[in-house]
Order: sequence, then structure tokens, then C-alpha cells
Amino acid sequence: MKHVGIIGAGIVGACIARELARSGCRVSVFEAHEPACGASSRSMGWINASFVTRVDYYEMRIAAIQAHRKLDEDFNGQLETQWTGSLNWEARDDKLEELVDELGRFGHPVKLVTRDELRALEPELADLPPQALLMENEGTVEAGHVTRVMLRAAQDAGAVILAGVPVSGIERGGSAGHAIVSPAGRIEVDDVVIAAGVMSGKLAEACGQKLPMKNEPGVLIETSELPFRLRHTIWSPDLHFKQLPDGRAICGNLFSGAIGDDAVEDVADRMLERMKQRLPSAAVGLKIEKVRHGVRPMPVDSYPAVGRLSNDVYVAVMHSGVTLAPLMGELVAREIADGAEADMLKPFRPGRFNDA
Ligand SMILES: Cc1cc2nc3c(=O)[nH]c(=O)nc-3n(C[C@H](O)[C@H](O)[C@H](O)COP(=O)(O)OP(=O)(O)OC[C@H]3O[C@@H](n4cnc5c(N)ncnc54)[C@H](O)[C@@H]3O)c2cc1C
Repeated sequence: MKHVGIIGAGIVGACIARELARSGCRVSVFEAHEPACGASSRSMGWINASFVTRVDYYEMRIAAIQAHRKLDEDFNGQLETQWTGSLNWEARDDKLEELVDELGRFGHPVKLVTRDELRALEPELADLPPQALLMENEGTVEAGHVTRVMLRAAQDAGAVILAGVPVSGIERGGSAGHAIVSPAGRIEVDDVVIAAGVMSGKLAEACGQKLPMKNEPGVLIETSELPFRLRHTIWSPDLHFKQLPDGRAICGNLFSGAIGDDAVEDVADRMLERMKQRLPSAAVGLKIEKVRHGVRPMPVDSYPAVGRLSNDVYVAVMHSGVTLAPLMGELVAREIADGAEADMLKPFRPGRFNDA
């Protein structure tokens, strides 16, 4: 039985672990801290294929939405995926029609709705724009929850999760092929997958391969419960938010980018104030329950890096990893377990950085 070591128990590592264990591999997941402690528990969890300009990447993201739908069905609602669709007016008003044309060229299901239609779709929203994009095929999940469910499913299929076990090195050789070095010892495996989020670039470089990253920080707030239900995920120029199944809301700000720890509280308070303006009937008593300060794992050209490094170790790192993880689980497991190369992954190999 092929033994695969996976480094990282975020949503990407967890989905790969489940698929590999189901396909008959022996799987060991090495996690430096707790499962889902990285970007996966600090994410907005928007599942989308919007605003993607490269056709191969668009197709990957559409396939990823389908993979989420299938996973949601397979797990019978346990993942709490919300297929709400989204309303989006992040772009300037005169750009929205251009965007509809751009996305329409890919056949993306998007339409323009007027202010009156918007009011009918989301009666609690204030400060409405003249028009917005409605994207009905999108959803959201809480990625930390999905990660934990995937890891349990992987364990049920025989995987072993080693939490609190930081990997310090990957060595070549031994009878198996590679050895993973950690406080658990030097464990020989047939194959290694680096799914270590923001740390993946460093681990790849230690394997002798360039994998430049431009990891990007972001801040989200979790609020107290809203006194009504929002029907969509909302993307406005200064704020985006969604409601959780338990009634609370998650809210983010595209411009919260590179901020120091000392500024996080200010950014969070300003987001809450804007949220109150957008949802006036929720304003009284609306509170921040938790601040999520995370870092998005992001290869320098913004596209996923998935495939073999020059020393044969496999890497899977990406932004929009919440959208992509269930699809990556399937594709990566097939490549590793069966050796079948996935056409969809070919443009996204980490070797592209060799020429950079
Ligand atoms: C604010 C914010 C908003 C986002 N919004 C969205 C969104 O709306 N939609 C979307 O699709 N994506 C979104 N993302 C991105 C998405 O969250 C990530 O792409 C995804 O969570 C990455 O998952 P991962 O498993 O690769 O990484 P992570 O979840 O970071 O997991 C990596 C794991 O590897 C472990 N690790 C690292 N080094 C080692 C080591 N040496 N040994 C052992 N373990 C190690 C870490 O401890 C960590 O648990 C957002 C991210 C942020 C921060």
C-alpha cells in the first residue's frame, strides 16, 4: 500500500487526505499546530468563479463549484454549504455592464439587476447602488468546519492525523522514496504532498525549487446574530458580508490588506460601523464577537501551484483554496494514487517559476 505523507491540515490538505485514503493509500497528515488553524479558519469561504480572466482558470473554478455541490450532496448537508448566490457591485457602476460581457463570454451565469430588483432581493439592505451583478451559482462555507469534517472522513478511511507535529525537513532516499523529518522522528513515505498554505513556498525552496509567494493578509469580523436572514452574499465596494447558518454574520473589507497587528482592532471597528449603515435594522446591539486576522497563501502570479517539484515532492498551494479544495482533493489524489495526469492542472505546475 502506497504511504503518502501530507504536510498541512488546512482545507487543501484535508480534502487531499480524504481522497487519497478513499483510494486505498496509507495517509499520514503532519500538522504543526491544530487542524484548520491557518487561512482555512480565517477565510470568507466564498465559493466562486467570478472575475477570473483566464479561460483555463475559469474552467477550473467552475469545476470546483461542481465539486463543492457534489461534496455537499455526499455529506447530506453536514458541511452546511449555503448556495445563496451573491449580489456584487464592487466595481464602479459604468464597469458593471463590461463585467457582464466579460463573464458572459465564458458563459458565466451573471445578470444585472436594478436598484428596485435589488431591494426586492434583499429588503434589509440600505444605501443601494443603481445596479448590481447577481451571480446565482455561488455559495459559501465555513472552511474550518469543512476541514474538520474532511479530516474525520479521512480518518474513517484509515488516515492518521499527527497534530502538533511541525515538519522540519523532507529528505530524499530510503527504501520508500522520501523521509519526513519532524518531532515524530524520520518517517519514510512513498510520496509527499506539501499543503502547508503560506509556508509551502519555503518548504518547496528547501526541496531546491523556486516557488515565490506573495501571501496577503486580511481581516474579517464575526458579528452577533442578525435579527433577519440575508438571502445572498453581499459584495459592495467597501464591505463584503455573508450570514452564517446560526444567524451571525462574517464581514470583510478588500482594503484591509497589509496591516500591522496594532491596526487590526481599528479596521474591525470601522467594518462594524459600515455594516451597521448597510443593515440599519440590525444596528442596535450589533457587536463584534471575534476578529479573524489571516494570511492568504498566494503564489506570486496569483494562480495555484499544483504538481511535482524537481525532487519529485508534490505541492498544492493556492489562493481561493476554499473554492478549489474539493476539486484539488480529487485531481491530486488521482495523480498520486493512479499516476493519471490531470489536463486541468497542467497550466498550473510549479515548474513555471523555473523560468521566472
Ligand atoms: C481573510 C481571508 C479571506 C479569504 N477568502 C476566501 C474566499 O472567500 N474564498 C476562497 O476560496 N478563499 C479565500 N481565502 C483563501 C483561503 O482561505 C485559502 O486559500 C485556503 O484556506 C488555503 O488552505 P490551505 O489548506 O492551503 O492552507 P491553510 O489553511 O493555511 O493550512 C495550512 C496548514 O499547514 C500547516 N503547516 C504549515 N507549515 C507546516 C509544517 N512545516 N509542518 C506541518 N504543518 C505545517 C499550518 O499550520 C496550517 O494548518 C481567504 C483567505 C483569507 C486569509
